[in-house]
Amino acid sequence: MKGVSIIGATGSIGRQTLDIIAHHTDKLKVVGLTAGRDVEALTELALRWRPKLVAFSDPEAAKECKGKLSCPVLSEIEGLTEVASHPEADIVVIAIPTAKALLPTIAALRAGKRVALATKEVLVAGGHIVLQQLKKGGELLPIDSEHSALFQCLQGEDVSRVDKLILTASGGPFRTKSLDELKRVTVEEALAHPTWKMGAKVTVDSATLMNKGLEIIEARWLFGVSPERIEVVIHPQSIIHSLVEFVDGSVKAQLSLPDMRLPIQYALLYPERHPCPIQRLDLTKIGTLTFEPPDETRFPCLRLAKLAAQVGGTMPAVMNAADEIAVNAFLQRQIGFMEIPAIIEAVMERHRLIPNPDLDTVWEVDEWARGIAAELIRKFAAS
Ligand code: MG
Repeated sequence: MKGVSIIGATGSIGRQTLDIIAHHTDKLKVVGLTAGRDVEALTELALRWRPKLVAFSDPEAAKECKGKLSCPVLSEIEGLTEVASHPEADIVVIAIPTAKALLPTIAALRAGKRVALATKEVLVAGGHIVLQQLKKGGELLPIDSEHSALFQCLQGEDVSRVDKLILTASGGPFRTKSLDELKRVTVEEALAHPTWKMGAKVTVDSATLMNKGLEIIEARWLFGVSPERIEVVIHPQSIIHSLVEFVDGSVKAQLSLPDMRLPIQYALLYPERHPCPIQRLDLTKIGTLTFEPPDETRFPCLRLAKLAAQVGGTMPAVMNAADEIAVNAFLQRQIGFMEIPAIIEAVMERHRLIPNPDLDTVWEVDEWARGIAAELIRKFAAS
């Protein structure tokens, strides 16, 4: 029996993790749950799953919840970190949508746990820091569907014999829109993803292709493959989740209907495979799988992410922070869709690169990038 703590239990990945645990109660049990500020949702989950402890990022929410549960209710990043390093947790699912998830990730690895990572921003902002920690102990497995696909294709293989990692992208809701049309798309259109149901930030990131850019950086740290050897192909059906091309020209792919519960289960039960409650793939019903190259003119975020991946140092953290602020401003209807890459690029141009940053430096540049992005948004909004 393995104990599981979920950092971000009330979100889309958190809830699907609980669904997988519900299907494998003979192998998995809940140890700790955390949420941002949704007292009602976390209380309901805690009453059903009876965790040893819970935590809220928001201290007010923690105060409000205290009388409602018999287990300890912790708060802020210290609380999340405590849930991530609880002695009874063997596996820690990291599923909160910002680089702040770096702290509970490091805490879990330091405590020797398996981290099942859904938050790609952790590796984007602090990949080299996570890798340093991994050398000392702990285990890191991807939940991101593309990276789970790559990880599955790499089982039994020698990574030094990999020629290319090929990440598939659905292309998002605006795949066929012209540059002019893209300037006028609405928040509602951006949030209507054709194949995946996800949180608002990652859905907008999928529409700009920034999500795929972040995934290039995530893949380079997870698999130790340089960014130049990581390619992106648009595959609108989201059936092939990614591919590995080896030096002999052989290509391995992983396929399934798009359902995050499969990569979640693989990360929780690895290396074992067990029945998973997803709908089975019937290729005769799918009929056709299509592929096209990504267009970096209409989707400049992909170009910016490749640049950040190549430059390295603090640049990916800066890009990631600027993206969060720009996406939020778009969701608040302060800026248009094509101003998201414009703002990110302007922040990246102003940044003075620091190679091999430590955690404090990552927070400093993160803070700096957020400030500059906010300033640029005010200028855009005023003009
Ligand atoms: Mg993904």
